[in-house]
Amino acid sequence: MSYEGVLEQSDSGLRELVEAGEEIIGYIYPHTPLELILAHGFTPSLMRAIPGITSGFEESLQTFACSYIRNLYNQRTNEQLPPISGLLFPGNTCDSLQNLTDIWKVRFSEDRVFRLTYPVTRYANDDSAEIYLTKELEILSSTIESTLDRPFTTDNYERAVSLIREFRLDAQFLYAARVVDPEVLSYTELARLVRSFLSAPVTSVGSEIHRVTLLVKEKLKSKGLLGIIDSILSGLQKKDLSKVNSFKPPSGPRLLVVGGMVEPQAIATIINGIDSVDDSILILDLLSFGFKSVFAPPINRSGNPFEEMAKSILAAPGEPTQEGLRYRMDFLKDLVKALHIDGLIICEQSFCDPDQFEAPSIEKAASAAGIRTVRIPLDPELSDRARIEVKIQTFLESLGIS
Ligand code: SF4
Repeated sequence: MSYEGVLEQSDSGLRELVEAGEEIIGYIYPHTPLELILAHGFTPSLMRAIPGITSGFEESLQTFACSYIRNLYNQRTNEQLPPISGLLFPGNTCDSLQNLTDIWKVRFSEDRVFRLTYPVTRYANDDSAEIYLTKELEILSSTIESTLDRPFTTDNYERAVSLIREFRLDAQFLYAARVVDPEVLSYTELARLVRSFLSAPVTSVGSEIHRVTLLVKEKLKSKGLLGIIDSILSGLQKKDLSKVNSFKPPSGPRLLVVGGMVEPQAIATIINGIDSVDDSILILDLLSFGFKSVFAPPINRSGNPFEEMAKSILAAPGEPTQEGLRYRMDFLKDLVKALHIDGLIICEQSFCDPDQFEAPSIEKAASAAGIRTVRIPLDPELSDRARIEVKIQTFLESLGIS
């Protein structure tokens, strides 16, 4: 299927949800408290950038706006978004999203726009970030209740916590499994499953992922690989790979994809489009809508809901929009060594300041670890696809692949 086909499928997924009578709150940022939205009786759905959107209204946005938010804004101005109950934007992440939210509120004053402001601090010696985010989540909850007349209910919350816990544990296992045996499940399929859940976190999608996980577990058990997978899984969950058991990877090249809010499936599609290469060379991603969404820790159901949601968000793998560059680079260096990575594909959303700020540090960390890198600027249109493919192909050749 073409990249456009893949993404159109996801857009139609949102439409199908709306047509099935689900009441949707769309969200933009990966670290959104899905449990909170579900607790209010709405279905959270990740708003995707989609190719083929006619532009023309971007002049409303400031010049620094990235290609991702330009695409979202054009979907709205072209009336290509299905009717939804509200939209949740993040605050304090990047200028592009701050600008988009402000303009959206003015231009489309009839839309219900919510904002959750995130603390930038993650590593303070006190619990100030957690207290701050807990309060923000409480404010968001009361705003949703007063605006949409739908209270937070404990039953809904508990169901949501179970659903999302199962998704995270299954998807985390699948990520760890591919590190050891990348052919057990294609990267494209894993990206599709994660994408489906982030677009529609409902029981039927969770059950599909659980079924796939059981099948993968069965296959890996018969190969005697569950022990090493558990060790890698635990290292990825704790973000500490120092205690991962050593293992001999299967022969073949092993690439890691890093970056922010680019579509994991877009990368897989590009790789699969290159002659005599397939996505089994993609061992792992550290992307916002992939690894960083999946490896947020599941919530402890017995604690205070707002405190527990705040803890989970703050313990998720970090974004370039947050502090912690040194921690991220140290983790990256440990990861490439422990997981036998041969090369890094650094994806940058076009005109994304956070991605462009982080990329040189990633290059430096990879070089210190003796790993080659290639930087790939992308936009949702993949407008430069031919050149991207050539660039990746040249990179693969430099690694002795293809
Ligand atoms: S891609 Fe970058 S600039 Fe655009 S919304 Fe995401 S973090 Fe912000």
